[in-house]
Amino acid sequence: MQERLLIVSNRLPVNISKRQGELVYSKSAGGLATGLASFYKNYDSRWIGWPGYITESKLEKMRITDDLHKDATVPVFLTRRDIENYYEGFSNRTIWPLFHYFPEFVAYNPSYWDTYRRVNSRFAEQIIDIAQPNDIIWVHDYHLMLLPALLRQALPSVSIGFFLHIPFPSYEVFRTLPWRNELMHGLLGADLVGFHTHDYARHFLSAASRLLGLEHSLMRLTYEERMVKADSFPMGIDFDKFNHAGSSKSVRREMTRMQNRIGDRQLILSIDRLDYSKGILQRLEAFNLFLQRHPKYREKVTLLLLVVPSRSRVDSYRQLKLQVDTHVGRINGEHGTIGWSPIWYLYRSTPFPTLSAMYNVADVALITPYRDGMNLVAKEFVASKTNGRGVLILSEMAGAAAELSESLLINPNNIEEIANAIRIALQMPQEEQAKRLTEMQSKISRYNVTRWALDFIDGLKQIKTLNSRLRSNRLTTQIEAEIIDHFHAGSNRILFLDYDGTLVPFAKTPAQAKPPQTLLDLLKRLSESDNCQVVINSGRKKEELDQWFSYLPLDMSAEHGAWIKKRGGEWETIQPMTDEWKTELLPLLELYVARTPGAFIEDKSYSLVWHYRKAEVGLGQTRSRELLNELRYLTANLNLQVMEGNKVIEIKTSGINKGRTAVAFLMQAKKPDFIFAVGDDHTDEDLFRALPPEAYTIKVGYHMTAARFSVKNPEAVRSLLEKLSK
Ligand code: UDP
Repeated sequence: MQERLLIVSNRLPVNISKRQGELVYSKSAGGLATGLASFYKNYDSRWIGWPGYITESKLEKMRITDDLHKDATVPVFLTRRDIENYYEGFSNRTIWPLFHYFPEFVAYNPSYWDTYRRVNSRFAEQIIDIAQPNDIIWVHDYHLMLLPALLRQALPSVSIGFFLHIPFPSYEVFRTLPWRNELMHGLLGADLVGFHTHDYARHFLSAASRLLGLEHSLMRLTYEERMVKADSFPMGIDFDKFNHAGSSKSVRREMTRMQNRIGDRQLILSIDRLDYSKGILQRLEAFNLFLQRHPKYREKVTLLLLVVPSRSRVDSYRQLKLQVDTHVGRINGEHGTIGWSPIWYLYRSTPFPTLSAMYNVADVALITPYRDGMNLVAKEFVASKTNGRGVLILSEMAGAAAELSESLLINPNNIEEIANAIRIALQMPQEEQAKRLTEMQSKISRYNVTRWALDFIDGLKQIKTLNSRLRSNRLTTQIEAEIIDHFHAGSNRILFLDYDGTLVPFAKTPAQAKPPQTLLDLLKRLSESDNCQVVINSGRKKEELDQWFSYLPLDMSAEHGAWIKKRGGEWETIQPMTDEWKTELLPLLELYVARTPGAFIEDKSYSLVWHYRKAEVGLGQTRSRELLNELRYLTANLNLQVMEGNKVIEIKTSGINKGRTAVAFLMQAKKPDFIFAVGDDHTDEDLFRALPPEAYTIKVGYHMTAARFSVKNPEAVRSLLEKLSK
């Protein structure tokens, strides 16, 4: 069966209107549609979204559904009120301003939120209706952030990807949203959450860690027994379309017309939707300043300001329109002469040939958003240039700035800097223009919109494979039964049991860490059964293990293998060790305790441990990275190893680890015919790797592991051990 791809976005790539009582359809081929075009050939694809047409008539809805069916599109009908509260309301009056760092424009309106939830559910119902278990569902943008979780609930095995086309703000901004947790849970329903830049992905992971306590590594986190990945996929454009447009007749005609009007003046181009995030007003101020500072440019330069109408039903947009009108009027009045207006102001949408001609003819593109998820106009301008002429001035706050580093990057709040960049751009030698353009073009031609979409779907498939691998090594009842059978049939059995996070949940306070009586009883039964050697294999100090377990007929290994104690014997080390190095490293660890409230040092006999589980999550993580770097540098020539555990960094003599200790135990034991090992963190991976392949190795938590099987939590471990002890 052909794989199916379901694309979901707020708007379908179609416009519907009614002329003389007849429905008229016109396709709107945005960048997204172009990027996805190749999938239409390879997959049996469907596009689900609002058709942009409001009707209450059942008959008309049926008609539209039938008509769109031919183009593999599925409409989700919305009412006028839905549009007001979900689209204009929560999406454009709440999320948009907040995610673009405009808190002053954010509306916190519970009825917007209610409708947003309802409309997301409506989309979910529609998709669930048509979805099949092997489908790939790709959800787009901030209008549908709750959708991944709604779909996951109903369709646990489908592959769900989400791409955010706007910035994901820093945690400090995101946290102000009353519904922040709901949005996070919504997004975490996806397998892959994509962003334009690495920074946005980082912000998302930071929010997951701070709000929900979800730790990540390699941009992946575990959520509800699944792996979720966040990654950056900078959206590209249809490079060839813009690069070749100049050779089409209609574009050439437009170019000639424009050039005749401009004469030998230089042309600066500014194109955006009317939006406060685009920084149009301060761009005009910068142009004004440029003209004041450099009067010789009067009558020599023109700013073509193309503003595309947008969201005119939202107040802040209407006000902005009036402000732009006033600014343009003032600057033209102040600097204009008879026959020359410094600004040509167009407030409308432009057909492609005109747009392309503008890109081709302009000497400079002036793109200065305060914030922008990506900014495709910047890439389109660069792609359109075929004669090696053209300079891009770009805000460093646009996602595109990460790729277009050969542009003149400016801080959009620095009007002086923008004015200066205009001068530099107008005077830039042609060779330098060509060099910068070539470098930028080589990047955006390689990573075009098709490649972007392919990359995302590839990423989604990889995470799906990873998740199925994780699922496949979950301990099933069948394997559990096999382990129990082998255990009972064994005549020489050995069990390696990690303590924290394995036999008891990871504890925050010493009181919580103490073994409960039921666990002690369980360990007693196990260690007293015939021919069964139980080894508590912990990172804790030997004194603690003694205090809790010495009365039981157990073996113990403390400090991640530095010490071992056979039942009834004394503590010994498995190789000679020193602790002289400690005095050298202690001051550094103490410095990091002072800099990280909540962190503390544990001084074990042959190791030092820096704990940060009580520190504030983000700070603890940051400091632990810094400390690791310093330690790796400092210990490079010492016979020491620096290990990361669960919210700890441990430094100890090289070559000592839980695996090494286990091997020592195995060598001393009669040849065991049943080996069992269970553990939850990095330190237990050494153990899993050291044991022979037939050993039953079990990881606690669903993460990538060298163990053969995984279980959910310590409760599951104890329940299995209970069964063994019967
Ligand atoms: N655009 C258009 N008609 C116009 C002006 C611009 O279709 O009159 C297109 C432009 O080619 C670009 C998009 O609108 O592809 C704007 O995307 P961008 O990422 O720059 O900003 P957004 O509007 O998505 O915030």
